[in-house]
Amino acid sequence: MSGKRNFVDKATHSADQLFDLPSSTILVLRRSLLQWYGNSGRVLPWRQSRKPYSIWVSEIMLQQTQVKTVIPYYERWLTQFPTVEALATASQQHVLKAWEGLGYYARARNLHRAAQVVVQQHAGQFPNQLEAVLALPGIGRTTAGGILSAAFNQPLPILDGNVKRVLSRVMALQVPPKQAIEALWHWSEALLDPQNPRDFNQALMDLGATVCTVKNPACLVCPWRTDCRAYHLTMQDELPLTENRSPVPHKMIGVGVIWNDRGQILIDRRRQSGLLGGLWEFPGGKIEPGETVEACIQREILEELGIEIEVGDRLITIDHAYSHFRVTLNVHHCRHVGGEPTPIECDEVRWVTLAELDQYPFPKANTQIIAALHQHLSP
Ligand code: SF4
Repeated sequence: MSGKRNFVDKATHSADQLFDLPSSTILVLRRSLLQWYGNSGRVLPWRQSRKPYSIWVSEIMLQQTQVKTVIPYYERWLTQFPTVEALATASQQHVLKAWEGLGYYARARNLHRAAQVVVQQHAGQFPNQLEAVLALPGIGRTTAGGILSAAFNQPLPILDGNVKRVLSRVMALQVPPKQAIEALWHWSEALLDPQNPRDFNQALMDLGATVCTVKNPACLVCPWRTDCRAYHLTMQDELPLTENRSPVPHKMIGVGVIWNDRGQILIDRRRQSGLLGGLWEFPGGKIEPGETVEACIQREILEELGIEIEVGDRLITIDHAYSHFRVTLNVHHCRHVGGEPTPIECDEVRWVTLAELDQYPFPKANTQIIAALHQHLSP
């Protein structure tokens, strides 16, 4: 058997294997990572702050969104809602409008509700006890660890996507991370520097974001190269292992821009629960097999809003990808023919002018419909 094979047998890990790095190696890993962070860590706006509210906002925005996208949203947010009280007393529509374009809108709704809890139950002070933080809407274990370590320097581990990837490689994990979550938490906790958890966690995130990247990890400049098992096994490009994914579903949707005789457009507010909850949209729904776009729009509008419409010209076709599916929106101008719009499958309906549309929070795909309307109808 080759030397490499022996190394694999001894050094790779499955989900049920325990952390076996010697404490001397752990100390070296901590020191080298913190030293690297001192020289190469990113300068980010929320790192200038020790305020739990600012750090909390950044942590929620950074869930599933990249740093460069988050920065302008973060800065605008703190101008619009400078304190937890300001956020707690804002309307949901105002909050969703500030979040518009950032995606995963449950984050904004939960942040808003959590701000109200902080004001009502914690006198406006963000709690510094793990259990109380975990009880807030929208905060799981890694977000709680991120906030409490950054704001209060508490020794709590984190396990976001970047950290999972780094640890899967350092430990040469031989199963997809999803199948080894407990082991990954265990490793994140064991490596965490109890003397300096704030910088250690930030450094670990930076390592994943800038060096141990998804593609082409920069191992030659990595502070952990000496002890990284994936690097020694030349497996850094193969790890972490991925789950076998089924093809992404594709939904065809018919959408109506419904006009009344006064030149107003009908919009509806989505139910609070579920995808894009609380946002406004142009009504429509899924095209059934064998159904035309026009027939779909007519049927959906009758079922969801109880009104008769006449479907006219196509306005625009939009392809949009969400995390677990893709949609194609087939958007048509429509004319209101009869019946009073009723929110049968939504929370609210409103007739608005084209100019008023900009006041409402819409999902990203719908903002393209608004842009098309402005373009087509401008003199
Ligand atoms: S040596 Fe390479 S694979 Fe290992 S942690 Fe560093 S960048 Fe990632």
